Amino acid sequence: MEYRDRQKKLRGLLNENRLDALLVTHLPNVRYLCGFTGSSGALILTEDRSVFFSDGRYIAQAKEEVHNARVVIGRKAALLSAAEWLVAHRASLRSSRKPGLTVGIEGEHLTVSARSKLAKVLGPRIRLKEAPPLIEQARSVKDTQEIRLVRAAVRMGADLFPALLKNIRPGIEENEVAAELEYAARRAGAEQMSFPTIIASGKRSASPHGVASQAKISANGFVVCDFGVILAGYCSDMTRTVHVGKPSREARIAYEAVREAQEAAVEVVRAGASVSAVDGAARKLLNKHGLGKNFTHSTGHGVGLEIHEAPRIAAGQTDTLQAGMVITIEPGVYIPQKFGVRIEDMVLVTETGCEVLTPTTKELITL
Ligand code: ZN
Ligand code: ZN
Repeated sequence: MEYRDRQKKLRGLLNENRLDALLVTHLPNVRYLCGFTGSSGALILTEDRSVFFSDGRYIAQAKEEVHNARVVIGRKAALLSAAEWLVAHRASLRSSRKPGLTVGIEGEHLTVSARSKLAKVLGPRIRLKEAPPLIEQARSVKDTQEIRLVRAAVRMGADLFPALLKNIRPGIEENEVAAELEYAARRAGAEQMSFPTIIASGKRSASPHGVASQAKISANGFVVCDFGVILAGYCSDMTRTVHVGKPSREARIAYEAVREAQEAAVEVVRAGASVSAVDGAARKLLNKHGLGKNFTHSTGHGVGLEIHEAPRIAAGQTDTLQAGMVITIEPGVYIPQKFGVRIEDMVLVTETGCEVLTPTTKELITL
């Protein structure tokens, strides 16, 4: 049912974007619109048709997974099968208002080489036009089914946290902590991790993307743990920063500042709020503590079928939050050569505010 509704919504946008068809090649978008989870597939949407293309490896899977679209299994790559189909059906797809056929492509996701191969098959009478990110925009607001799946992924991620803490101790490699976490995640039913697990200890915690390394966890210092699982296609994403040994006064102050900033940003989240206002709320709090210059990334991002999706919660972005969006709120402070702290929750935007989905405490945990 949800696939039909999602496709219908997009069909309604074709005309106003002056497109006769939309050629969907970005796999998370294909999955969103028709359910296919394989690694080779393309979907053509027109005002009254949905046709899915794949190759011989996916006959059974396409039959089982693809909803609300005719399935064409070609001998060639999905993209070329789609192009040939467009050529064969050009006359019947052409709208009465103009002679040519305009097909929207996903410019963010199609390589230059794929585009020229496509153009060669399509010939001069079918025009390719870079479409705006219509599907990404639709995906930013989750439907009921998606919210259910996101909740399940978030819960699974958070449930792994207590066992993760038990593995953090002086002398153990960051890699080993990450490996145990990832093993537990798979055993719990996760399809895979949402992204390479970040376990960044001591001075390494000062780099916002310190993926787990062979470094050993020291007897005294922060450990940034940023991880997520994928369940039924949907990603979770959370960060907690814990301290091994007794934290210094400076460390404690920085931690509390990040926590206040995170909570201040969550406070601002509601349908109608601008994403830059949410970012601004976190930044203002950190500025007050003299740590604004140490907050070197944006405040958050949408999460769903992909770990980073629309909207971006950052200064200078013009998006407005809508009920049903699922975003992260993750300010951090990084003091080079010393330490870093980040706290990240996933939240569901509602009409009146938001629901913090990540259930894990934000009190400073010392081990
Ligand atoms: Zn994260
Ligand atoms: Zn994140």
